[in-house]
Amino acid sequence: MVKQVDNVVLDTLKERLKEIFGYSQFRGEQEVIIQNILLGKNTFVIMPTGAGKSLCYQLPALVTEGMTIVISPLIALMKNQVDQLTAFGINAQFLNSTLTKAEMTRVKNDALDGSLKLLYIAPESLTKEENLEFLKRVKISFVAIDEAHCISEWGHDFRPEYRRIYGIIENIGNLPIIALTATATPKVQQDIRKNLQMEEAETFKSSFNRKNLYYEIRAKKDTKKQLIRYVRNNKGKSGIVYCLSRKTVEEIAELLSVNDVKALPYHAGLDSNTRMANQDAFLNEDVDVIVATIAFGMGIDKPDVRFVIHYDVPKSLEGYYQETGRAGRDGLEGNCLMFYSYDDIQKLEKFNKDKTVTERDNARHLLNEMVAYSTLGVCRRRQLLSYFGEYLDKDCGFCDNCIKPTEKSKVQDEVVLVLRAVHLTEQRFDGEHITDLITATDNQYVRSYEHDKLDVFGKGTELNESRDYWISTIRQLVILNYLEKDIENYGILKIGEKGLNYINDPYPVTLYKDHNFDEEEVKVEDDTDSASGGSAHAYDEALLGMLKVLRKKVAKEKDLPPYVIFQDPSLEEMATTYPTTQQEMAQINGVGMGKVQKFGRQFIDLITRYVDENEIETAKDVVIKSTVNKSKIKIFIIQQVDRKVSLDEIADVKNMALGDIIEEVEHICYSGTKLNLDYYINQVIDKERQQDIYDYFMSAETDNIAAALNEFSNDDVSEEELRLVRIKFLSELAN
Ligand code: ADP
Ligand code: ZN
Repeated sequence: MVKQVDNVVLDTLKERLKEIFGYSQFRGEQEVIIQNILLGKNTFVIMPTGAGKSLCYQLPALVTEGMTIVISPLIALMKNQVDQLTAFGINAQFLNSTLTKAEMTRVKNDALDGSLKLLYIAPESLTKEENLEFLKRVKISFVAIDEAHCISEWGHDFRPEYRRIYGIIENIGNLPIIALTATATPKVQQDIRKNLQMEEAETFKSSFNRKNLYYEIRAKKDTKKQLIRYVRNNKGKSGIVYCLSRKTVEEIAELLSVNDVKALPYHAGLDSNTRMANQDAFLNEDVDVIVATIAFGMGIDKPDVRFVIHYDVPKSLEGYYQETGRAGRDGLEGNCLMFYSYDDIQKLEKFNKDKTVTERDNARHLLNEMVAYSTLGVCRRRQLLSYFGEYLDKDCGFCDNCIKPTEKSKVQDEVVLVLRAVHLTEQRFDGEHITDLITATDNQYVRSYEHDKLDVFGKGTELNESRDYWISTIRQLVILNYLEKDIENYGILKIGEKGLNYINDPYPVTLYKDHNFDEEEVKVEDDTDSASGGSAHAYDEALLGMLKVLRKKVAKEKDLPPYVIFQDPSLEEMATTYPTTQQEMAQINGVGMGKVQKFGRQFIDLITRYVDENEIETAKDVVIKSTVNKSKIKIFIIQQVDRKVSLDEIADVKNMALGDIIEEVEHICYSGTKLNLDYYINQVIDKERQQDIYDYFMSAETDNIAAALNEFSNDDVSEEELRLVRIKFLSELAN
């Protein structure tokens, strides 16, 4: 173990990150997490799916002496991870019941002679006496426990063997532990800490915001037509369709197949060979769509799933979040569509009728949250994050509610009333009770607490008669953080500082009308306005297509899933920068030296041929040679914009001012590359204001910014806003 993480080690970490994995930057907290485990400290990592947990133990495993044990619950997942590491040129193996005696011996020999860096092992193999004896003889650096929520009965995937892990590790030696999970609930976290006896461990919890995912909910009407349309519009892309029952899974898979979509079913009723074969067909891209019950997904980490559709309403937001989380793990496109109808909720409620009272209450509570999420008009991302205890201070600009808002209104007295009601009842009641109180609903609880004597009693009805209105208002105030909901404690409402300040100094707050899915029209036309539609890409689409074909061919030869060869972001970058030497290839994100040597040749040849045949002046001919960094930042911006990353974040990552980023974008646009910044502009500039500025440029003599600033001098419009809309204007009309 490195006892002191000094600068030298940090530099080395970054170098190794590039050299082995081909990434030029750590993502989120990866670096500090790795430092922590390198210091020999127990480490607890909570990150959403797709955030990059694996690297947090893989990289330290490679820079320390000895072998790292990785405990993982699923054999399928293990093989996958080992394949990916092998593709990077790393010696990683797994030990589980599928190995022959000879294979087992080879793995053990590699471990004993010190060449093996990572050993993946299932908990049931770990507990075997013979394995334990062998592990005691190996020099081990630390232990990583993946999917650590399996330890907890409160998690969605409890595995009793996981509870025995700690005892065994203790038996092997005094080893530091890194535990990783994507489950955010406090109860599960507590269980993990306790069971692994790592109460002191530093916790690294990253935001659960998956910025590249587009959330959308549509009325469940004409659903089959909508589904086929949607899948056809996403032809050739990988997607998952979740259904509640096996019967629907079979039916929908059949429906897609007869409509020329390559689709297969997956559910627990299929025999295990068929199930495995169907999963492999999906991973290897022999089929595009898998139609599944929720049984599917835990064991796969295919990074390029482009859409996840919930054909039926899921039982809880936790489940919904897990399942949608399987889209766009590589940070590129990920569309999440759910079909909603209240009938589904009633069906789900019926399933619960044989449960105990507590279980039924719990299940109903989860369903209520699902209904709220579906029907509220507030930004979906704000809702989801609020549910997981995170507060987002503005709308995301990248969900259906942001893009097509329901009717909105500014209210003030209503907000004050609700907050006062919560305050006067001493923050001890839930939303139902507060609603009863302000609508003067006659009930014994209100009376028994003498709440009918409060001045807020029945005051709501004067402002709005509808009970649903108040339920929705309260929910929206929680998401906007005027109220806090104690989920662990029967959903009791509390007032934070923001709410208290508001009562004393109120102002108009924007609230949205709920969706009424019974009345909402469904559109079965082409989805030009969905996130998947239309944005002009910076990469060479023809070349990208060829690279993907080659990737599939190589994958077939090596019997690996295509994404193990190169992931989509890497191919897109190749189709942008045209690398034609090994050195250039190694500069591509996600391509380390190991991959260049293993798979690079054929790709370099293809690109070289393509560049020659099409007489392409590659970026390096024109720009890179003279001003390396400048063109790099442009390429970076183009890629990030393609991925709909906000400009503020790009500025953050690059340590540049927002104004400088905008300037780079202007250069890019003036040189003829079309960039679609709508996702960002919609988020930071009001629609009406955009229209005003746009109209101005339409009729103005010049696109000069000083002139525009002058024109808008009375309207409090910033230079940045003007420049952003000018970019939009020029891109749409000039490019
Ligand atoms: P998780 O286990 O948290 O769901 P993974 O470890 O599978 O996530 O990583 C998700 C994706 O992110 C993978 O495709 C991986 O290659 C990529 N990734 C991880 N770290 C980085 C990084 N520092 N830079 C770029 N991509 C990364
Ligand atoms: Zn939103």
